[in-house]
Amino acid sequence: MLPRTADVIIVGGGVIGCATAFWLAKAGLAPLVLERNQLGCEASGESAGMLAPQSEADAAGSFLDFGLAGRRLFPSLAEELKASTGVDIEYRQIGILVPFFREADLSARVARARWQRESGLSAEVLDRSDALKAEPLLSDTIEGAISFPEEAHVNSRALVTALADAAGRLGATFITGCPAVGVIRREDTLSGIRTANGTVSTKTVVLAAGPWSGPFGDTLGLRIPVAPAKGELVLVRPAGRLPRRIIYAKQAYLIPTPRGEAILGTTVEFVGYDKRPTVAGVRAILAGLSEVIPAIASAGFLRCWAGLRPHTPDELPLIGRHPALEGLTLATGHYRNGILLGPLTGRLVQELILGRVLSIPIEPFRPERPVPRPTNERDSI
Ligand SMILES: Cc1cc2nc3c(=O)[nH]c(=O)nc-3n(C[C@H](O)[C@H](O)[C@H](O)COP(=O)(O)OP(=O)(O)OC[C@H]3O[C@@H](n4cnc5c(N)ncnc54)[C@H](O)[C@@H]3O)c2cc1C
Repeated sequence: MLPRTADVIIVGGGVIGCATAFWLAKAGLAPLVLERNQLGCEASGESAGMLAPQSEADAAGSFLDFGLAGRRLFPSLAEELKASTGVDIEYRQIGILVPFFREADLSARVARARWQRESGLSAEVLDRSDALKAEPLLSDTIEGAISFPEEAHVNSRALVTALADAAGRLGATFITGCPAVGVIRREDTLSGIRTANGTVSTKTVVLAAGPWSGPFGDTLGLRIPVAPAKGELVLVRPAGRLPRRIIYAKQAYLIPTPRGEAILGTTVEFVGYDKRPTVAGVRAILAGLSEVIPAIASAGFLRCWAGLRPHTPDELPLIGRHPALEGLTLATGHYRNGILLGPLTGRLVQELILGRVLSIPIEPFRPERPVPRPTNERDSI
């Protein structure tokens, strides 16, 4: 049953929507989450789950700071969620090893490790022999590797479940199978939301609809530049041992899970809202990974799947009040890092709504920044 009014309505029950509900409920509000299907049924429940702000960072800056602050939140969040819900989000600081294969890659990788160390982060350059000692399953054709020991991993599906469960215990309401189809507005001020099942009054809506945030904006006549970027993953059970760390090569990555399986990824494609895995995608992942860890060829194939990342043209999230519609806050566009950034985004949205001091500056992520026009990546739902 839909309530008639809500303190805050959150559109979308992925990691961003559930984290936002969690932080708002912790502050004493009673948010309502509308999910058109099931909680975590899209990218949030299908992601690789890496908490990896350092491994791909080419420069210091606000996005890296956001990622580092996001990663720092996890150890205490994992404990808090376990204590309040009993759900283990499987947070593990297992580190990431980035191998490189060509002499030409060496200087760029060493430079990345150097500036990160100078910024106070852990990043160690390993020569070929030390890299093979650290991870003997790596191909002996590697030139060396960089180790990022602070990078971590979570079970992203468990994270969504735990956030939603904890938020529910604190007073949030979740209605699934209930698509939001538009807002009720008086000129430039929002006063409620229309769903397939009826309307709810509210002064505050948080749009956390992942790659569907763009089409939802279209229904309001607002440009919200978020579109789907498909990514595929493969799950295998290796015949022998697994690497201890995440192996993140240019060609592909491997994540060892606590169940003795390995998640292999990934691809990036702009093919609209079609999320069927393809032969070409799976083949690219397996071929790439075979170069990095040849023993993967004998692993047992378990399954493959694909998800849709919420992509923005400048690849930065959109967080903050929408300048053209009073009452609408965006929390979307987290592209490849929504699991890492989700819990902190939820806290930022709570701080924005309550007028509190923000945990980190969000100027570069504000919706009113100039964002280039998308090229060809926007398709219909
Ligand atoms: C293959 C792959 C690997 C990834 N690996 C990582 C990783 O290692 N680390 C990392 O940090 N991130 C990773 N990501 C990215 C991460 O999964 C996403 O950034 C994140 O899940 C986005 O969360 P979201 O809540 O914004 O969107 P979603 O998970 O898409 O959730 C949006 C929800 O809104 C609902 N919805 C849409 N429209 C409506 C509507 N009108 N009314 C009601 N509900 C609606 C949808 O059903 C959906 O459940 C990966 C993604 C993919 C695809």
